[in-house]
Amino acid sequence: MIRKVREVINEKGFIKKNWRNRVPVCIVYPDSYFVGMSNLALHLLYCTLNGIEDIVCERAFFEKGSESFSLESKRTLSSFEILFFTFSYELNYINVASILKNSGIPLLRKERNDKEPIPIIVAGGITVIANPEPISDFFDLFIMGDVEATIHEFMDSYLQAREKARGKILEELSKFPWVYNPSFLKINYRDDGKVSSFEPSDFKVKVNYYRGEPLGRSVILSTDTEFANMYLVEGTRGCPSRCPFCLMGNVYDFRVDEKSIYEAAEKNIDDIGLLGGGVSFLNTLPRIIGYLSDRGKNLHLPSLRIDKIPYELLEVIKDRVKTLTFGIEAGSFRLRRAIGKPISDEEIISNIEKIFNIAGFNLKLYFMIGLPDEKMEDIEAIFELAKKIRHVAVKKMAPRGFMSRLTIHISPFVPKPGTPLQWTRMDNLDSLEEKTKWLRSKIKKLGSLIFTHESIKYSFIQAILARGDRRLGFVVQKLAEGDNLRKIMLESPVNLGFYVYRERERDEIFPWDFIEGTRSKEDLYKAFEIFLSKLKNE
Ligand code: SF4
Repeated sequence: MIRKVREVINEKGFIKKNWRNRVPVCIVYPDSYFVGMSNLALHLLYCTLNGIEDIVCERAFFEKGSESFSLESKRTLSSFEILFFTFSYELNYINVASILKNSGIPLLRKERNDKEPIPIIVAGGITVIANPEPISDFFDLFIMGDVEATIHEFMDSYLQAREKARGKILEELSKFPWVYNPSFLKINYRDDGKVSSFEPSDFKVKVNYYRGEPLGRSVILSTDTEFANMYLVEGTRGCPSRCPFCLMGNVYDFRVDEKSIYEAAEKNIDDIGLLGGGVSFLNTLPRIIGYLSDRGKNLHLPSLRIDKIPYELLEVIKDRVKTLTFGIEAGSFRLRRAIGKPISDEEIISNIEKIFNIAGFNLKLYFMIGLPDEKMEDIEAIFELAKKIRHVAVKKMAPRGFMSRLTIHISPFVPKPGTPLQWTRMDNLDSLEEKTKWLRSKIKKLGSLIFTHESIKYSFIQAILARGDRRLGFVVQKLAEGDNLRKIMLESPVNLGFYVYRERERDEIFPWDFIEGTRSKEDLYKAFEIFLSKLKNE
């Protein structure tokens, strides 16, 4: 399958280095080419590794049911010395089992030995920085930090150690405080399933953050990806808003890279895609827009905050950009305020009117359901808000003789590790199904609105994996084999509801507590208390 993909896709900028006397490594993106090529961590890793003279770095993707081959030289994954997996989404953990098994590489870390030449299996990425434990049986090492701050040192160390036995190499690479070797840590559990202690008790892994510039940028342009033929720039990493549910806002400190946006204007490409959750907070955005626009560039935006709309930008892009995406997140002001988006219904409506005064943009509006303390009134509030937004659209579009496309997209709230909401429970499957059904039927009856939603089942699996521990290896394998979720739940040695449906005590030891990131557990708990007090404060 991968062979076919390589033949039909059209890429500019891929690097094909000669293998002679070089150390071959491969970046494995555990999802399709279409998804993976829009991931800037992959681009960054690819150009950083290929920038090292002694290394040849290729790429491989996951195509269901097929063995993964590298795109550049079409070699099997076992031909490489190191495989670098990068994760931005917990559900991709499931694909690791298929990728390794289909490549003839032992899935379990403990089954890889010194006797055969087996690649070293390494993982990194935002979900892994937050909690690598559910896949810790599959990986030799985890790189806990930004590519820019870690890869050079990691590879220098590997190049010096590579002639040694596999076990010795792993030991040497584990010397970095930001490299997590799961075989060095034993986790003990209590009878009730919670973690009782780490062994050694002072075991820590310190996330290594990059504080400089540039951040990520496209290296390869492809026609066969979500942002086809668009030059992507990571304008921000992290987000100053630090909404208590958001992984990006809590795992990273806020960083900005304006220089790369300006440099993008010099590229021989018309479309520039700006990425980063914190883009709404770039107060120099109007200047940037003017600069790019004067040079004939089209700027594409990520999802924005509805309370920070860059109207100047909308004026500039109105003839070229059709759809705008906003994360409103909750239907009621009470919940919006608690999750860090304190904007009233009136302000939302007034801001949407201003948008429609500029042009008849299509709007994609994201909401979450199942937030802590959510009541039926909060779900009804999503519907009421959708109704008001539809009303504004009809009023503004009628004189123009057309109707904007309005999409209401619903996702179940999934509590994430390393965020203030890591102590909360997820809403149960039946309740989420019912709320989704209710919203779908009400919104469909209104007409002129499109209703879409995330899969409830996959959100539940995502929730298990997000705050899971290393006892979940069995579950990940079964999911990879395509077993039915209910069957897995029955067969699993641990009750899967344990990971999802529990409120945690303040002092519970979490499986990821040995990771030292940008926010301490104490700091996160304070933010959680603020969240709770805002919920109560009607
Ligand atoms: S504004 Fe968006 S990206 Fe920023 S912390 Fe909140 S949810 Fe995350």
